Amino acid sequence: MKKEFAVIGLGRFGGSICNELAEQGMQVMAIDINEERVNKFAAVASHAVCADTTDEKVLKSLGIRNFDHVIVAIGDDIQASILTTLMLKELGVKKVSAKAQNDYHEKVLRKIGADHVVHPERDMGKRIAHNMVSNNVLDYLELSDEHSIAEVVASEKLGGNSIIDLNIRARHGINIVAIKRGNDILVSPQADELIRAGDILIVIGADSDINRFERKAL
Ligand code: ATP
Repeated sequence: MKKEFAVIGLGRFGGSICNELAEQGMQVMAIDINEERVNKFAAVASHAVCADTTDEKVLKSLGIRNFDHVIVAIGDDIQASILTTLMLKELGVKKVSAKAQNDYHEKVLRKIGADHVVHPERDMGKRIAHNMVSNNVLDYLELSDEHSIAEVVASEKLGGNSIIDLNIRARHGINIVAIKRGNDILVSPQADELIRAGDILIVIGADSDINRFERKAL
């Protein structure tokens, strides 16, 4: 059975989620209070509805509790975002993801039961900053305040050494979870795998250990 999604708020963020879900063949209901925005998604979404989601009766009439995953992508109107999220959880929606505009908004969304809170501007800013600080870091995903997964490029210095030779886990406290080599990806590489210069190492660990690894080993 295909999952059914509903996206509330069709700005740049909600709109792009809606487009991507539809592209992946998912059932998506697109909802916005603004009719013009709704019309833009009429051809993309399975249903496009003009509605104010802060009205509980409206949410009930949309049968919102039957959706597997509802995304609240209302940003500027923080009150509407909070009210909508609260009612979705009260109505028993299994999974609610919500976009936070700032740290306070994020805190409230978590408190009222949002299952997943995203903070796209902040998170993208952090990722870009990481990429700018080190030429070797291609991408980075924050797992917690202190742990991340990073994609780093293996230097000439690392090339020709096996994972066990480099003793990365003991020396730097991080693990190589995969190696991207051209179009191939080696998941959970063996300890005797030889690293080649230019390989993209996907490493997991504490931020401080990943930073030290970037500075010292690469
Ligand atoms: P983005 O930053 O994603 O581009 P935006 O700045 O265009 O978003 P936001 O204020 O973040 O707009 O809101 C996103 C959408 O949410 C808007 O299209 C807005 O009409 C819609 N929206 C706001 N309040 C409600 C509501 N109560 N019910 C339904 N949709 C709403």
